[in-house]
Amino acid sequence: MVNASRASRPDVDNRTRPQDANRQADIATPLIAWFRAEARDLPWRRPGFPAWGTLVSEIMLQQTQVARVVPRLEAWLTRWPTPADLAASPPADAVRAWDRLGYPRRALALHAAATAIAEQHGNVVPRDVDALLALPGIGDYTARAVAVFAYGDRHPVVDVNVRRVLARALLGQGEPGPAKAKRDLPLMESVLPEDRDDAAATNAAVMELGALVCVARSPACDACPIADRCAWRAAGYPEHDGPRAPRQAKFAGSDRQVRGLIMAELRASDVPVTRDEIEPVWPDAEQRDRALASLLRDGLAVGDDASGYRLPEG
Ligand code: SF4
Repeated sequence: MVNASRASRPDVDNRTRPQDANRQADIATPLIAWFRAEARDLPWRRPGFPAWGTLVSEIMLQQTQVARVVPRLEAWLTRWPTPADLAASPPADAVRAWDRLGYPRRALALHAAATAIAEQHGNVVPRDVDALLALPGIGDYTARAVAVFAYGDRHPVVDVNVRRVLARALLGQGEPGPAKAKRDLPLMESVLPEDRDDAAATNAAVMELGALVCVARSPACDACPIADRCAWRAAGYPEHDGPRAPRQAKFAGSDRQVRGLIMAELRASDVPVTRDEIEPVWPDAEQRDRALASLLRDGLAVGDDASGYRLPEG
């Protein structure tokens, strides 16, 4: 049974609840006007874009830039226009088509979600947040994003860009600090108009503002539609002295890089690859073995030294 009220009204952490309700309520109007005039023309914002496409795009966009996602998304939806089409292909095809988007576990998660949608939801992406959350590999952010951006429902959706804009505009902090759902979701909720369409547009506008204008370094405040209501700007841009969000670990030399190199070998081969054939991808044998073991653990590779290693077939 779905509990929409739980999804749309998260617990509030009163210690971090914003002080000025009027200020929060009235950033929506200028943001919506700005978004309608300035938002990028992206596939998932076009009329008639399918909910399945929104789900795929939201998963691809996690930790991956828009410019890299758009061509891969279009190819993906051409090949697999519905969840059932993807479910009918082996997981290895999804991993291959993921190509170099990074974090390829997302391809397996998407395949598993597509299979559940095809088998349990009549090949229709669910609308309800709790039903979306029940799909394999779908987390809170993605579930909310699909409910709002595909179906236009009223829920707060919070990503790193949203957290930065709200921290600056509402809390007067230059940085949002570590993610915290009990604080972040009520803060976003507090600026959403009651009207569903306006609420969805406001959420998308805050995200877009964080991506284009209120960027991490050097925000373009002169071009900001809420500059006259921004608490951080009004306070003279004080330095942030609270806890900071953890920085992403360096990619070069990391196990992530080695995993990516091994995955490229597996993707490029139609037959199992031996451990010896993997050896040239990285000089450090211990790190190479660790990366291969983690790929096997994640289900992104299958096999052993006797039969060789390959992508998962089904
Ligand atoms: S005025 Fe500047 S810091 Fe404030 S929300 Fe706008 S871009 Fe961000």
